[in-house]
Amino acid sequence: MNWLNGKRQTANTSLLYFCAHWKVATGIAVSMSLLTGTSAWSQPVPGSLDAHWNEGASDCKATPQAPLQVHAYELQTFILRQSPCASFEANFLYLLIGSDKALLIDTGAVTDPKEMPLANTILELLPDKDHKKLPLLVAHTHRHMDHRAGDPQFASFPAVQIVPIDLEGVRAFFRFTNWPNGIAHLDLGGRTVDVIPTPGHNPTHVAFFDSRTGVLFSGDFLMPGRLLIEDAVAYRESALRVVDFLKTRPLTHILGGHIELNAAGHAYRFGSHYHPNEHRLELAREDLTALPAAFESFNGFYSRHPNYILTNPIHNFLAIAIIAVAVLIFIVWGVRRLLRRRRHRRG
Ligand SMILES: [Zn+2]
Ligand SMILES: [Zn+2]
Repeated sequence: MNWLNGKRQTANTSLLYFCAHWKVATGIAVSMSLLTGTSAWSQPVPGSLDAHWNEGASDCKATPQAPLQVHAYELQTFILRQSPCASFEANFLYLLIGSDKALLIDTGAVTDPKEMPLANTILELLPDKDHKKLPLLVAHTHRHMDHRAGDPQFASFPAVQIVPIDLEGVRAFFRFTNWPNGIAHLDLGGRTVDVIPTPGHNPTHVAFFDSRTGVLFSGDFLMPGRLLIEDAVAYRESALRVVDFLKTRPLTHILGGHIELNAAGHAYRFGSHYHPNEHRLELAREDLTALPAAFESFNGFYSRHPNYILTNPIHNFLAIAIIAVAVLIFIVWGVRRLLRRRRHRRG
């Protein structure tokens, strides 16, 4: 497959040039700048989200599933969905192809290539350039294992670069000097991807805004599911930062890392391998602009919104633990009182 022939540089296609070019590309691809929202944005390339995502099964053994679903959003953008049977996390991964390199956002929840042929699938999707596969950059929305378990599959591939997963590594790779402020830019060749720090779910979280399609790839920061809050203040500030960044930009869709709600907005049981009647994957600008206000009215434990749920698992765990201890104290107190009464009557 080669969709980039038209964009190929015709002169100097030697291997030497290719290697030098890749080195230079990886060196300069990431640049920081103070971005202003004044330029006129070109119209995003339209794409299709007309797909029925693999919904898993109530009995995965009885109904074997393809582990990985590939959907072409448009010629240079692919959405990959890991089957809920392969992992209950059922991650969505995204492949963005430029004329100089490709970007894979997240590697999903499964490491074993026999169970999840991720790297080979990506390799097949990559077009050739100068008689070689296009160089690939593997980045993550954040360091949670379900977004990077597939990394080792790419380790032996030539011309693959993997962004580190720790916060220092992320900051250094994208050259953030004032994290979580500032925006980094990845140049894939005719396609710029902005990297926006979005800590709150996890300190390493970033979202990616693609200039070609106008899509925000939002990971676990914003998706039709449980927005698990680790740091509510940082999360709200991230929401404000993304709202502000996208204010003047042509946002088409917000595509996250999971679908955890059904079409009626109810969450699937945690750990379920079966997602009947899933909520649509894409969220819209309204869902993003409603996020800061959702944090302002958040009770610290759990709140439902039309297309997502805010929840703080640590607070919920502590609340349950406190209730459990209170119930235990009450039972012990009741039993002791009962025994004392009996003794009293006998006496
Ligand atoms: Zn996560
Ligand atoms: Zn996740």
